Amino acid sequence: MELHVHAEACVQFQTYLKLNEKYSIDSKLKTIEDYKVLLNINSLADMIGNFIYLQQYFRMPEDYSYLVDDIVTYCKNNKIVYIETHFSLTMPKKNKLNVADILFTLTGYLAEAKRKHGIEICLIIDISRGFGYANAQENFQIMKRHIDMHGIEHIAAMGMGGLESKYPGHLYADIFSKARDFGLNTVCHAGEETDSRSIWDAVLLLRVQRIGHGTSAMFDKDLVVHLSENKIPLEICPASNCITKKFVSTYEQHPIRNFFEQGVVVTVNTDDPILFDVELNDEFYRLHKHCNFSLSDIVKVLEYNITASFASEEQKQGYLKDLRDSADRLLNN
Ligand SMILES: [Zn+2]
Repeated sequence: MELHVHAEACVQFQTYLKLNEKYSIDSKLKTIEDYKVLLNINSLADMIGNFIYLQQYFRMPEDYSYLVDDIVTYCKNNKIVYIETHFSLTMPKKNKLNVADILFTLTGYLAEAKRKHGIEICLIIDISRGFGYANAQENFQIMKRHIDMHGIEHIAAMGMGGLESKYPGHLYADIFSKARDFGLNTVCHAGEETDSRSIWDAVLLLRVQRIGHGTSAMFDKDLVVHLSENKIPLEICPASNCITKKFVSTYEQHPIRNFFEQGVVVTVNTDDPILFDVELNDEFYRLHKHCNFSLSDIVKVLEYNITASFASEEQKQGYLKDLRDSADRLLNN
């Protein structure tokens, strides 16, 4: 299971080359290597810029079939049977696409993927903190209308990503309150690039059920205790944190081991697999190699990835049973 990954960053560069050819976006980009050079990352701002750049490659609702196909491939490669993926409406809207049509078409592709491949892909609709309150409010309304008309299938939650330092979470508390009243699950990126105040705001003001990243909790013992006691999961993305280098630049420096030992529900995720050249399997291996996680610790984290998800209780019990059966076989051999 994976709970924090942005949809367009699961799409292979090969697919971006295909879309580049279809829409003649940039004639200089001819190979996968060209994309890797163009999309080099040294900070969170680089990453967000690259991500926004890639979003403009999707110009027709049917282009999102490529996106779903590539998420399915990513899931198969990493033995993922359930994934919650962030999907932002802001750039499609700015690219003059009809986002209501896109949501309808995309959730249709997700239903088809489940039928064909047995993989559950759910969207976390990202209202985008970086484009102001009115835009975020509009995104929430579009999501709400979609759910009113077509149901909530394949929509797991409402989320919010982007630069916290410029657009702090408290500006959006009202939208999170409306989302809760509407019955939505909510999550928010916090403590990815600002201090622990941002995480406190996400917990106490936005009252989200999970925190995206939460890295800066490493500097706030009271917060770690609060997260642990209240079982508020962190969606930790180690490669992303090490590459954007805000608080840590190596796995050894990463606070995930300390959080785990303090009883925080830590889940492990990739954030942006293509941009960071990382897969979920790699992340678990690196926890073992660099962060002192034993095999049974890793099984515990895999359990957290299941229990912290927005899957139904029945689904969770099924996933937990499958995990424990596999872990028993592995640990007893
Ligand atoms: Zn993210």
